[in-house]
Amino acid sequence: MAKGGARAICLISGGVDSSVAALLLKEQGIEVIGLNFVLPFEEVFKINSETGASRIAVEIGIELRVKTMDDEYVRILRNPPHGYGSQVNPCIDCHIYMLRTARCLMQEENARFVATGEVLGQRPMSQRADALKLIERESGLEGYLLRPLSALLLEPTVTEMEGVVDRSKLLGIKGRSRKEILAIARSKNLKNFASPAGGCLFTDPAFAKRVRDLIDHNSLGLPELRRLAIGRHLRLPGKSKLIVGRNEKENGLLARVVEPEECLLRTSDVPGPTAILAGRHAQDEVRLAAAIVARYSDASMDQSVRIEVRTSQTSCELITTPLPEDRVSELVI
Ligand code: SF4
Repeated sequence: MAKGGARAICLISGGVDSSVAALLLKEQGIEVIGLNFVLPFEEVFKINSETGASRIAVEIGIELRVKTMDDEYVRILRNPPHGYGSQVNPCIDCHIYMLRTARCLMQEENARFVATGEVLGQRPMSQRADALKLIERESGLEGYLLRPLSALLLEPTVTEMEGVVDRSKLLGIKGRSRKEILAIARSKNLKNFASPAGGCLFTDPAFAKRVRDLIDHNSLGLPELRRLAIGRHLRLPGKSKLIVGRNEKENGLLARVVEPEECLLRTSDVPGPTAILAGRHAQDEVRLAAAIVARYSDASMDQSVRIEVRTSQTSCELITTPLPEDRVSELVI
């Protein structure tokens, strides 16, 4: 029997694994505080909106805390001590980072342990038995990190040995298939979890190219990461970076995330995109950026287009014609 009234911090992604893990603890009478992390490139889409994690927290009936990543996460992404996965996903260090944050919350909230929805062997990099151990050790949670879905295949935690959690009610699942976990979720009538995903955008080859480009140009920071999933990204010959919105939603987002020292470009006389020019503002780069913006506007290839170029201090208008497609595609990251 679990001792009632204990409190735990449980990482909640919004997926089925962490949802079932949290529910298993709640059913034992543990007070669960969910902790959800928003990756930098998700912030503009997720902050202050309903997410998979917030929906599942309501459904299970637990409190949810939401954390964004700080500069430490960017340092990890630039040079992860335990390396990258298939692309630029620093999965082991990413887990350690999240669990260190969870450990701080555990101390602040006087919780007894931290739990996750990790499953032994489900992910090649971060969920091998040795990786699970390493993550537990380096996050400073030795003995206090419970993985309820695979607990029966792992050494008992202090929490289980002290009877804070009833080990006999935990599971012994391993491997990549989610069939068993989905069946448990169905049997418990859980509905609002997100469908299983392979990984975050850091595992996506096209997105990874954008991250590597920032690393190569020594300009990987939180502001750059926050907008990396918005628009088309182009690297211009003078090394400045152009981000061009692909639709109205992205145009609005780019206007929100532009930094004071950057240029915001917009078509004045035909419908067209909003774009951010970051880096050098030399005349030739600004003119090239304007011609690219014109290319993605509704103007025909021989039409003159007026482009408004604004910084926080100045504003001017350029007249240009669209850059030919083959020249634009050479610059796309
Ligand atoms: S897939 Fe992304 S969010 Fe998940 S551990 Fe890896 S880097 Fe972190």
